[in-house]
Amino acid sequence: MPGRRELLFAHARSTRGFMPDDEGEALFAAAMDAGRAFSAATLVEVGAWCGKSTVYLGAAAEETGAVVLSVDHHHGSEELQEGWEHFDPDLVDTADGRINTLPSWQRTVAIAHLEASVVGLVGDSSTVAAHVRPTAALCFIDGGHGHEVAWADYRAWVPWIRDEGWLCIHDVFEDPDDGGRAPYELYCEALRSGFVEVDATGSLRVLRNRSVRGAGG
Ligand code: SAH
Ligand code: MG
Repeated sequence: MPGRRELLFAHARSTRGFMPDDEGEALFAAAMDAGRAFSAATLVEVGAWCGKSTVYLGAAAEETGAVVLSVDHHHGSEELQEGWEHFDPDLVDTADGRINTLPSWQRTVAIAHLEASVVGLVGDSSTVAAHVRPTAALCFIDGGHGHEVAWADYRAWVPWIRDEGWLCIHDVFEDPDDGGRAPYELYCEALRSGFVEVDATGSLRVLRNRSVRGAGG
């Protein structure tokens, strides 16, 4: 009989989204470390889409007594709109013609029975950060990949990562032929500012905050 963790991984694998299995499990492993390192840890997810990465983070939160704050406006990034490669017409709300991933995300979390460990925050990421101001044990950045949006996420969230906390960045591609520049730039900036790399799996980079400064500094 598969255990709870294996069931959640299977659920994550069957959820639509943009997180290869090995990267999802690496994200889970980082979240387990963060959840164990701090009691009642807050794990932040920036960019949830239909909840695939949310389940990996939620699985670790459940095992460690942490809580995931999952942030998304649920209308999709620029690069997920009609005319772009990853546009999914099934996710368009017929009421207004806009993408709406909130029902899918909510269903993903509910079916996983992760509602005690995952809290959804619906809205613009930087606005949420400025008002929620979390003490984050881990922050996973996987929101919009345009230059402005990605940097706005970095500036809004990274200051709230605790000393010795974790920063995970998705879609980091050193070679411009493999993907967009912005996540790679954030990764380089993190390394420059005192984060150290602890894992690299596919395009996921896991970093640890060794820069000594106060929360929000
Ligand atoms: N982590 C997901 C994929 C996220 S896709 C997975 O595992 O499949 C990127 C997400 O970022 C989209 O859902 C989009 O709505 C969200 N997003 C983009 N810009 C945003 C912003 N400014 N505020 C909040 N969410 C944003
Ligand atoms: Mg991604």
